[in-house]
Amino acid sequence: MSDAKSDFDYDLFVIGGGSGGVRAARVAAGEYGARVGLAEEDRYGGTCVIRGCVPKKLMVFASTYRDAFGDAREYGWDVNDGPFDWHIFADKMRSELDRLEGVYRNLLDGSGVDKFDARATLKDAHTVTLSTGEEKTAKHILIASGGRPVRPDLKNAELGIVSDDIFHLESLPRSMLIIGGGYIACEFACILHGLGVDVTMYYRGGQILNGFDDEARGLVAEQMRARGIAMHSGASVLEMEEREGGIWTKATTGAEKIFDKVLFATGRKPNSDNMGLEALGVEMERNGAIKVNEYSQSGVPSVYAIGDVTDRVNLTPVAIREGMAFVKTVFGGEPTPVDHELIASAVFTQPEMGTVGMTEEEAEAQEPIEVYATSFRPMQTAFADRSDRVMMKLVVSKANRTVLGCHIVAPQAGEMIQLAGIAVKMGATKEQFDQTCAVHPTMSEELVTMRTPVRTS
Ligand code: NDP
Repeated sequence: MSDAKSDFDYDLFVIGGGSGGVRAARVAAGEYGARVGLAEEDRYGGTCVIRGCVPKKLMVFASTYRDAFGDAREYGWDVNDGPFDWHIFADKMRSELDRLEGVYRNLLDGSGVDKFDARATLKDAHTVTLSTGEEKTAKHILIASGGRPVRPDLKNAELGIVSDDIFHLESLPRSMLIIGGGYIACEFACILHGLGVDVTMYYRGGQILNGFDDEARGLVAEQMRARGIAMHSGASVLEMEEREGGIWTKATTGAEKIFDKVLFATGRKPNSDNMGLEALGVEMERNGAIKVNEYSQSGVPSVYAIGDVTDRVNLTPVAIREGMAFVKTVFGGEPTPVDHELIASAVFTQPEMGTVGMTEEEAEAQEPIEVYATSFRPMQTAFADRSDRVMMKLVVSKANRTVLGCHIVAPQAGEMIQLAGIAVKMGATKEQFDQTCAVHPTMSEELVTMRTPVRTS
């Protein structure tokens, strides 16, 4: 509730106009009548809308047409595929991002939030200084400043680009080296390969997508390799130099090669530098993540933080939920901890991977389990003579039959896991999955028809 007697300029000042910050600001103002100010130094919409999920997904869509043309011919269509025109696509993508940024600005205006197109730093526990020179005071300050991609500490690393730069490329390179094996590396490897770029990946571990179910990430890797992506495990860049014809690289494996572009997809870092946080006594992790409690409150009571700057679960819907929980706690008088359990997510590789709950390896370390899994060639692409395989997998507790984890590798796995995630979040048992009648013919019907465990422990 807004505090009529408050001497502060605002009840809430939000730093950062990304998904989490905008949601918190407009709900606090629109639903609870709080007086809210928000500062954004770049573009409204943040990483997700401007340089992450949204343009990435548009690029995923663009990149899938190459396979679709081939499939269409197998299905009897007389289709000719020409080259992909980056300029046509990129212009349209950038216009769409402009439109979405406008939507975000309008949402704030419509809720009565004062916007400041400026960088904000903290002067004290209730005061922010803007890069325009203005100072604003607030009863509560919410830091939702997100994160940014980082390059490794390597000589000439600035010769490589990061994910933010992909959307601004003037033209598509002929060849690209991608360093890293996480979400961003794998998604862009598939996207760029689909758009016709010759893609090589170097990842330092034994397998891509660390932390995901071993069998699922193994299948994604196998399919990426089968599509023609040159994947090198146990490899990283040791040296790089600008040379005639591109960027010369020397790998830890000894391989020397020239690429048009090098992309560092080697992780992200919270945006908490030079914000006055240390001086204020706001505690941070070594990587700069702001330490917060279950209500997103920092050690300084008036300062809260949500989203990637806290490095909890770095996903847009999580930042939005953290923002909503913050508003309910602070302005709704209803202390609401953030629930970080059983969050479903998808990696938009080709094929996609959808996952919720524990991996087989995590579950096995915790308790005796049964594993139900099946892998097969799906009807649509098998008919088109493609060798693509999909996988459906359930990890089940032996003790109480709860489905502890669900892992799907398939086209549209992101869509499937959203729905399977509801059942897993509700604590459904394997028997409850089995009581659900199959939808036929679909790929996901296998989730309710697997009768015999492939492994038990
Ligand atoms: P990740 O942490 O997922 O992956 C980073 C990769 O870089 C890992 O393979 C890591 O290896 C490797 N790496 C780190 N440092 C070095 C180094 N110095 N030299 C070589 N390799 C290195 O980060 P991303 O940047 O891919 O993604 C960041 C986060 O953004 C994700 O964790 C996710 O939360 C979010 N995201 C979500 C998406 C989605 O939901 N679809 C899409 C994109 C991002 P190792 O594994 O050995 O540590």
